Amino acid sequence: DRARRAIDEHARMVADFPAPGIDFKDLTPVLADPVGLSSVVTALTHGCRGIDLVAGIDARGFLLGGAVARELEVGVLAVRKGGKLPPPVHSTSYTLEYGTAVLEIPASGIDISGMRVLLVDDVLATGGTAVAAAQLLGRAGAEVIGVAVIMELDGLGGRATIAEGLGADLPVHA
Ligand code: IMP
Repeated sequence: DRARRAIDEHARMVADFPAPGIDFKDLTPVLADPVGLSSVVTALTHGCRGIDLVAGIDARGFLLGGAVARELEVGVLAVRKGGKLPPPVHSTSYTLEYGTAVLEIPASGIDISGMRVLLVDDVLATGGTAVAAAQLLGRAGAEVIGVAVIMELDGLGGRATIAEGLGADLPVHA
């Protein structure tokens, strides 16, 4: 389909980044392409119902999340890396493919309790980030009811990690 062709055409594969042995998939050029952005957003939102909020993960998830939220006619929340937001914040630290990371969302100024959230990112790798982000949103009283990414990397167990951390019936759309 259109999205798959745009990804094949524009995605950039970078060997040994950010560490030796890791093949980094850079989807920046997909998002920068008009057909790439629109076709990917259409694919990710297809059949998506009952969402109150989109949460986009730092940083390409912000770009994608905003566009997905607009398409679904809901608002968007940035799940930030640590240290960027003014206090008070909900914060979590977790282990990822290469090192550890902190994710934060505001604990004041917005009330997302009871909201049904679609979690959006560019790439699903080990799944650690998605699980941490969903748990963080859960601490603010929201419920992640789906995960949508452009690309899922094979062999890193992302889907299994999400099933284990967030429940086997949580839809993961890649
Ligand atoms: P995780 O391993 O699924 O937790 O991925 C960690 C974070 O790094 C997520 O936000 C991913 O989108 C990002 N990430 C991991 N591998 C890649 C990659 O190859 N390309 C782009 N982003 C990646």
